[in-house]
Amino acid sequence: AAILARDEQPIGFAAAMRDRIASQLALEAELRLALEKNQFELFYQPQVLLSDRSVIGAEALIRWRHPVRGLIPPGQFIPVLNNSPLSDAVANWVLATACQQSRQWQLAGTPVRVGVNLSPSQLQGSELQDTVAALLDETGLAPELLELEVTEDILIEDAEKAQKTFREIRARGVKIAFDDFGTGYGSLSYLKAFPLDTLKIDQTFVRQLLNDSGDAAIVRATIDLGRSLGLSIIAEGIEDLETANRLKGMGCDEGQGYHFGRPLSAPEFEQLFLARRSVA
Ligand code: C2E
Ligand code: MG
Ligand code: MG
Ligand code: MG
Repeated sequence: AAILARDEQPIGFAAAMRDRIASQLALEAELRLALEKNQFELFYQPQVLLSDRSVIGAEALIRWRHPVRGLIPPGQFIPVLNNSPLSDAVANWVLATACQQSRQWQLAGTPVRVGVNLSPSQLQGSELQDTVAALLDETGLAPELLELEVTEDILIEDAEKAQKTFREIRARGVKIAFDDFGTGYGSLSYLKAFPLDTLKIDQTFVRQLLNDSGDAAIVRATIDLGRSLGLSIIAEGIEDLETANRLKGMGCDEGQGYHFGRPLSAPEFEQLFLARRSVA
């Protein structure tokens, strides 16, 4: 590198970095505006009992309704958001909105457990257990209607603090789900150390379940392990009836995926799933 002329690669790299940082900052500024202008929305995807297809839960999934670019999926802004100072504000908005929505459905006589994806910053800064307790008090939501979805990268940050936090949250009756199970490096050790209610089998193992004997073996082992630990098991990414039936046969309790329903706005979710309480 020392023999490179001044106008060679390092400068091209620096320029690329500069551009990247500039576009990251631009997106961050837009995200700040989006929060102020209420452009974030939660969509809800049904979670069903595989035994009778009744809707027992919904995963809350964030969307950005951009005035020009339309509906933007989380993959396009969550990574930048999570590395920005805005992360906490949006995460708290998600948690509060999901609790309010679930409470409304509870009051309407169609209670649905709502799953909320936690962001890494929520475990770092302020005390999440206090935030959750305050939201339950304010909304009056039954604690068992809230399920927090946690991924391994969140647990890894500060394992000791995470254990304490989730123990307290769970003591109030709120459920904890291990999201994207099997995709990380130490999933098995976390199973032992963390207070959990639910394992969510990641869709990467579900998609080829019928064709790939390796995926089938992993799913079968995960279900057996979860059951012997007394956890409930939900499989995500179910796209067809055959896969749903296979999972049911393997002893999986619950399912989520396009076969049962896509994520929908709250009013659409009500119309399609809460009116009948089951997927057709
Ligand atoms: P996730 O928590 O694993 O959510 C499941 C994702 O799989 C969702 O994508 C969902 O729409 C998609 N999905 C569900 N069923 C199927 C299926 O049958 N086939 C296929 N191909 N996909 C299916 P989405 O909504 O784009 O969310 C992606 C990820 O973004 C989520 O993964 C989660 O990690 C993150 N995310 C979404 N909303 C939030 C949020 O409010 N807060 C945080 N911190 N993260 C969020
Ligand atoms: Mg999730
Ligand atoms: Mg998941
Ligand atoms: Mg995932």
